[in-house]
Amino acid sequence: MRKLGVYIQVPFCQTKCTYCNFHTGVVSADRFAPYIAAVQREIASHAALFRAASISWPARFDWQSLSELPLSPEPVDTVYIGGGTPSLLDPALLGELLRAIRQTFNCSWEEVTLEADPETIEAEKAALWVADGINRISFGSQSFVDAELKAAGRMHRSTDIYKAVPILRKAGIRNISFDLIAGLPKQTHDSWRYSLAEAIALSPEHISIYMMEIDEGSRLGLEVLRGGPRYSAGDLPSEEAMAEFYELAQVELASAGYEQYEISNWARSGFASKHNLKYWRRQPYLGFGAGAHSFSGEQRWANIHDAAAYLAAIEAGRFATESVQAVTRDAALEEELFLGLRQLAGIDLARIEREYGVDLAEKVNRLASNGMVERCGDVLRLAPAKLSISNEVLVELLR
Ligand code: SF4
Repeated sequence: MRKLGVYIQVPFCQTKCTYCNFHTGVVSADRFAPYIAAVQREIASHAALFRAASISWPARFDWQSLSELPLSPEPVDTVYIGGGTPSLLDPALLGELLRAIRQTFNCSWEEVTLEADPETIEAEKAALWVADGINRISFGSQSFVDAELKAAGRMHRSTDIYKAVPILRKAGIRNISFDLIAGLPKQTHDSWRYSLAEAIALSPEHISIYMMEIDEGSRLGLEVLRGGPRYSAGDLPSEEAMAEFYELAQVELASAGYEQYEISNWARSGFASKHNLKYWRRQPYLGFGAGAHSFSGEQRWANIHDAAAYLAAIEAGRFATESVQAVTRDAALEEELFLGLRQLAGIDLARIEREYGVDLAEKVNRLASNGMVERCGDVLRLAPAKLSISNEVLVELLR
């Protein structure tokens, strides 16, 4: 039986980082409790909301059909509370969220992740998180160089990271993930090497490396596109430098014993993110909260991004979704290739060709002859040297 992932979006932050292109906002703390109450209500009434919106829950996942709910029988094995900065919330509110999931779903939790920013971590909070079932912290460390953190508008400094890790360990967290960003303003080869070394020295179980994205969705991106100097836009590393940072990370993390299992993710043995693997393996998950996405296997839907509009919809007893899309056969094939090839394990080409009735031999052979992909029997994977330009390879394959 496949198991279900549950994602909760908490779209609140203390400040807005210059590079952030997420739908998150800085709001007064008195808005946290009503928002969490709305998410609890959405969780508890999801079956009725889905029925009213013609969301279908496919029988091939071996779950009872939604018509047999109200109490959803799906076994939930992973929960991910992301944001935003959910670690800002009073732990009692997080506890209520987790209780709402337990009361609604059949839970056998293996991995319960909380995204946390280093400056928000305190011993008392961490103990309460663990008592409520949180067993993994995804840590927004981003860099160990204060000048880079400051330029990016981050609230924390490197000392906050050094302080937070022992607090989490003492509270009983055995699974810590660090995020690092390659391409922050003021980042150099030396400073990137330093951040990697400091991260490795703290021995997290998991490390994610994200490449800086420049688009109009962030203040920094807009400034770069306009050619302005604000937000240290003139101090961004070049694209070539970013690719070199990524390649350096591959080397350093491998030699420190981390296995790369996805384009942006490395883990010690047994610590690959169970929840995030569901996204890349096209397994079902339900998202609750403003802007949260869900996938049933046959449909994808997304909630309203605006937190106030989300709250109003839920309080009025309406489904807070802004889009529901059936996943067509062509779209499913694209997802199989796009998401599957993000994983270093690659994809089972024979299964995909059989399931979708397609012959990808010509495209695959062309990409293989250009050294972009590797084929080993039925397994197709991105060539390791092409991971930093994976999007180009994927666009070529999907063309
Ligand atoms: S903490 Fe994360 S979500 Fe919040 S503003 Fe910064 S980058 Fe965006």
